[in-house]
Amino acid sequence: MENSILDQLRQAIGAENVLAEPEQTIAYECDSFAFHRHTPDAVLLLSNRDETARVIQIACRHRVPFVPRGAGTGLSGGALPRHGGLVLTLSRMKKIREIDFENRQAVVEPGVINMELTNATSPGGYYFAPDPSSQMVSSIGGNLAENAGGPHCFKYGMTTNHVVSLEAVLASGQVVQLGSRTADCPGYDLVGIFVGSEGTFGVATLAVLKLTRLPQAVKTLLAAFSSLRGACDAVSRIIASGIIPAALEMMDQRTIRSVEASVNRAGLPVNAEAVLIIELDGLAAALEPQAEAIVQICRSQHCQEIHVARNEEERLKIWKGRKQAFGAAGRMTRDLYLQDAVVPRNRLSDVVVRVYEIADRAGIRLASVFHAGDGNLHPILLFDRSKDGEEQRVLNAAQEMLQVCIDAGGTLSGEHGIGSEKNELMDMLFSEADLAAMKRLRSVFNPDDLCNPGKIFPSRHCRFF
Ligand SMILES: Cc1cc2nc3c(=O)[nH]c(=O)nc-3n(C[C@H](O)[C@H](O)[C@H](O)COP(=O)(O)OP(=O)(O)OC[C@H]3O[C@@H](n4cnc5c(N)ncnc54)[C@H](O)[C@@H]3O)c2cc1C
Repeated sequence: MENSILDQLRQAIGAENVLAEPEQTIAYECDSFAFHRHTPDAVLLLSNRDETARVIQIACRHRVPFVPRGAGTGLSGGALPRHGGLVLTLSRMKKIREIDFENRQAVVEPGVINMELTNATSPGGYYFAPDPSSQMVSSIGGNLAENAGGPHCFKYGMTTNHVVSLEAVLASGQVVQLGSRTADCPGYDLVGIFVGSEGTFGVATLAVLKLTRLPQAVKTLLAAFSSLRGACDAVSRIIASGIIPAALEMMDQRTIRSVEASVNRAGLPVNAEAVLIIELDGLAAALEPQAEAIVQICRSQHCQEIHVARNEEERLKIWKGRKQAFGAAGRMTRDLYLQDAVVPRNRLSDVVVRVYEIADRAGIRLASVFHAGDGNLHPILLFDRSKDGEEQRVLNAAQEMLQVCIDAGGTLSGEHGIGSEKNELMDMLFSEADLAAMKRLRSVFNPDDLCNPGKIFPSRHCRFF
C-alpha cells in the first residue's frame, strides 16, 4: 500500500492506531477458519463511528478494499482480508451505551462481547437470548453480521430476531440509520437485510438490541441414547408433541468422551452413543408435566438413561461442557474442520447416518455436536494436515456431506455463514438468477465491492479476482 494512503489513515485516526508492520498485521491473517490466510496491508484500531467513516472514505477514494473485524472467531473466513487492504478492527468499540428495561432494549457498540450484555442485564431480570457457543468471546457486530445462532435460538430465534435498529457506515463512508426503536418502522426492512450480510454491506457501528425476560423457571434434562438415530428421532418426536424446549442439543460419543477428558467435564455418560441436552423454561408450573412427557418420549426411543439436573451448579456444568465441546475436540486431533449445515428437522436422523457413512468411507474420524432442535448439523472432521492428501480428502468429504444436506432440503450453512469458506459452493444451492438478484442488492450498499470483497459469491462474480 502506498505510503501516502497510510499517512492519510494515520492522520485520520492517530498513527498509534494504524498497524502496518508485518509482525503486527500477521495476527490478522485469518479468523477461526484457519484453512485460508491472507495478511492485510494495514490494521486500523477504531474507536468510534466518525473514525470508521473517515477511514472508509479514504479507502473509497483510493479504491483500497477493507474488511470489518470483530473478535475474529468466525468459522467461515468472513473477516479474512482476501485481497489485502485494510482490516477495520472494532473490538475497542465496546460500550453498552444504554439499558432500557421499560422498552426491553439495549444500545450497544459493535465490539461488545455477547455474554457481557447478558451479564449486564441479568441483575435486572433480562438477558440477550442469542447465545452462540462462542458467546464468551464473540462480538455483537460479528454476531449480527453472521446472524449467529446458539442453543437457545431454537425457541427464541436467531440474532436477526433480536436486532431492533442499527447505525452503520456504508461502503461509501456514508453514515445511515436502519430501522427505528419503535415498532413497525415504515419502508423496507433494511435491518433484516443488513443482519446476515457477513460484513459485505458496511460496518455496523451501533445496535439497538431486544432484551428477553429471564424465565421464571428452568429445567435441564440429560438423556443418554444407545444410538444417534434414536436421539435424532427423539428430537422430532418432542417437537411433534407440541413442546417447544428452550434448547435441544446433541453430542455424539467422541464429543462426550473428549469433553469428559477435559477440564470442563460435565458428568456426561461416556458409554452412550449420543446425549441430548433438553432445556425447558417458562412458568414453573408448566415445566413438570413437560419434563414428564419428554422422559416418556425419550424412553420410547431407546433412551438408556435420563435425568434432570439436580441444581443450578449441575445445570451450568452441563452447559459448560456443551459450549466448550468444540474446544475439547482439539484434544482428539492435530487439525479439525467444522462443517456447518442445516436440514429439515424430520430428515435429521437419515442425514446424520449418511454423514457418518461418508466419513467412514473416506477414512476420516468424525465427532458431532449440534443444535438438533434447529436441524443444524456440525460434523467435526478430525485429521492431520501433515499427512499427504489428508486435507483434500477432508474437504471433499465435507462437500459430499453438504450435498447430502442439500438433497434432503437443507442448506449450505446454518449459522457460520458462507464467507470465503463456501463461496465457490453457492452454485450447489442457487441459480445464476438467484445470485444475480443477491448481487444487485449488495451493489446498493457496496457498489464497488470494496467492502469485504471475495466473500459469499463465487469468484466469477467478484470484481477483485
Ligand atoms: C468455539 C467456537 C464456537 C462457535 N459457536 C458458534 C455458535 O454456536 N453459533 C454461531 O452462530 N457461531 C458460532 N461460532 C462462530 C463465530 O463465533 C460467530 O460467527 C460469531 O458471530 C463471530 O463473531 P466475531 O465477533 O468473532 O466476528 P468476526 O469473526 O470478527 O467476523 C465475522 C464476520 O462479521 C463481520 N463483522 C464483524 N463485525 C462487524 C461489524 N461491526 N459490522 C459489519 N460486519 C462485521 C466480519 O467482516 C466477518 O465477515 C463459533 C466459533 C468458535 C470459535
